[in-house]
Amino acid sequence: MTLQTRIWTPVDFEADGRQSDCLRLPYSTDLSAYGWVPIPLVCLKNGPGPTALFFAGTHGDEYEGQVALLNLSRSLDCADIRGRVIIVPALNYPAVIAGRRVSPLDEVNLNRTFPGNALGTPSQMIAHYVSEVLIPMADFVVDLHSGGRSLHYVQSSLVRPGRDERQQRALLRMMEIFGAPISFVSNGAGGGGMTTLAAAAEERNILALTTELGGGATFSSAGAVLAERGLRRLLKHFGITPQADVEPAQPTRMMMVKGRDAFVYAQSRGIFEPFYELGDQVRAGDRAGVIHPVEWPHGEPQMLSFASSGFVACRRAPSLTEPGDCLFKLMVPLEEGPRPSMNDDRSRGTAIRA
Ligand code: CA
Repeated sequence: MTLQTRIWTPVDFEADGRQSDCLRLPYSTDLSAYGWVPIPLVCLKNGPGPTALFFAGTHGDEYEGQVALLNLSRSLDCADIRGRVIIVPALNYPAVIAGRRVSPLDEVNLNRTFPGNALGTPSQMIAHYVSEVLIPMADFVVDLHSGGRSLHYVQSSLVRPGRDERQQRALLRMMEIFGAPISFVSNGAGGGGMTTLAAAAEERNILALTTELGGGATFSSAGAVLAERGLRRLLKHFGITPQADVEPAQPTRMMMVKGRDAFVYAQSRGIFEPFYELGDQVRAGDRAGVIHPVEWPHGEPQMLSFASSGFVACRRAPSLTEPGDCLFKLMVPLEEGPRPSMNDDRSRGTAIRA
């Protein structure tokens, strides 16, 4: 028997009109014995039609998606919709108000805990509700991310490889319509694996797109604008806002992350001095940067090199580093690498899911 969620909401997902309220996640504390954690939610519905499901704040220190969803939920008019739009702008609300990647209530990274647990910690309960209640209602899902406190990211969208050729084509098409400068395919082998929101959607055979809109726990206006325009294009593409005027999508570069050689990791502690910026093109063997040891003024800084050639898509944001910190991630054009496939793990692009 599937365990029932303990999360509840006065929102009736089958009712027409605009409802703006919250999910209520039971959380009993010293000062709030019968209390719940509010997770803001907007549901817009107008008759039959497809359902779009939009999330931001899965990581609390990523802001462009949160602002894009707030703008979108304020400006969408039910009269212009056919079907339903469900907007959750601060999915891991405790992490959002703390400005943190992980929830301060359980120290869990929500995007590493899918499909969740109905009777688990707060983050696990949220993941379970998303997997079991929200995703099954959706025709497509978008989870808006950025790099968060530890990473700077090029503006990009990403999808998993898809369950079959037909689904893969639909996912690549979603990235073209979203219109980020970079689009890439990732199976999460470097980090998220099957524990992400996008993987939970794939398990249910629902199309899911994720983004990276900026990073460093600060706000990129360009990232927020891209997110809002990209979502409006997707709503029109899926027939939810057939009459909407949308900005045409800019061309996107289809890229991939080609195995573990695409990453540079710190192996010592110190101050990271990077030699390249986001968007730079590097070659295998190029010096990537150095780590200056704080404790050893007489010692040599640790020199770091790129193990493969590519385009700098992601770079560590904080200067202080520890062994194991990701410093760079490279991408290559999709046509240069093996095509991402559903059946052969060795040919899949891999990526650390930020
Ligand atoms: Ca993220």
